[in-house]
Amino acid sequence: MNRQFPCLEVHLDRLYHNAHQVISRCEEQGIQVCGVIKGVNGMPEMAHTMRKAGAVQIGTSRLEQIAQCRAAGIEGPFLLIRIPGLTELSDTVALCDMSLQSERSVLDALEQECQRQNKTHSVIVMADLGDLREGFWDRDEFVSACVHVERDLPRVHLAGVGVNLSCYGAIQPTPEKMKQLVGLARRVEDAIGRKLEIVSGGATSSYTLVHWHTMPEGINHLRIGENILLGYDLQKLWHIQDMDYLRTDTFTLTAEVIEVREKPSYPQGQFCIDAFGHKPVYEDHGIRRRALLALGRADVGELESLMPRETGVTVVGGSSDHCILDVTECPRRLEVGDTVSFSLCYSHLLYLTGREDVLVTFTGM
Ligand SMILES: *Cc1c(COP(=O)(O)O)cnc(C)c1O
Repeated sequence: MNRQFPCLEVHLDRLYHNAHQVISRCEEQGIQVCGVIKGVNGMPEMAHTMRKAGAVQIGTSRLEQIAQCRAAGIEGPFLLIRIPGLTELSDTVALCDMSLQSERSVLDALEQECQRQNKTHSVIVMADLGDLREGFWDRDEFVSACVHVERDLPRVHLAGVGVNLSCYGAIQPTPEKMKQLVGLARRVEDAIGRKLEIVSGGATSSYTLVHWHTMPEGINHLRIGENILLGYDLQKLWHIQDMDYLRTDTFTLTAEVIEVREKPSYPQGQFCIDAFGHKPVYEDHGIRRRALLALGRADVGELESLMPRETGVTVVGGSSDHCILDVTECPRRLEVGDTVSFSLCYSHLLYLTGREDVLVTFTGM
């Protein structure tokens, strides 16, 4: 197969820059960083870059990605950041050094599995502070589960406690939320009579407190993916202006033009539904110059949010395998065989790196 496009170019020098910027700022405030690679399908090159920039662990939600990194010679420790199911425990113990946990029955089964494999495994027990995804809700139950690990599960090491925010519930990490987690950590420490190694305050959204120098004392760990990979969410969605020490052009997607034609912008005929069962609303802008790309929702998910790298190019829409551009205002006169490049956001990256038929190239290393 002579596939050249779509092509995802990975700018490893820019990714190293972002990783270094984020991790060094965290380190200055006594916070270690787990570099999260689930947004790029566990790409070992990304894990390597994050480790080189000082990530203390590599984290991902999928065991397959950890297996892939290990096979590629990436050194751990590896942190499993989706709480494992019972059926995942044998691979969790075999492949991961540490995992997030939120169920007492899973912790007990983890002890059994550790005995079976004659290994030890570290855990970060999760508290839910309002975002309503994973984590203990009842504070006493949380503390007693931590004490149970410490006292009754000799092969499971209680490394620390953690929280996740702004994922399901869109709850903002604030100094108050962080202080609640530190308070829970202190309760656990009082009960077990020793310090915890890790108090993990969250993901990219919690990095805002590092940036603003408002992170409370006691948080010493974050799990960061997006802000290293793309630097997009906090700068473009949270509108944080002075975070321009992070690059947002760390990946370039390039696709091939397969048709260029002047066409009406308003469909003609009787309306039914589109390829995904929706009834979109169309606006009539008259005759426009439109380019069709060999790229679709199967490759990137949502097409409309792709960010063209040149002026005068607008994504109009598309379907599973086609992307329609309006190029009427583009100074470059596009022809069949030309290519068009885009910057990406997280969901695009997630879909693109999960496909076998998207070429991935590495530059800047
Ligand atoms: C995905 C995830 C992260 C990393 O999130 P980013 O927003 O990419 O930094 C951290 N922790 C958990 C539990 C996650 O699921």
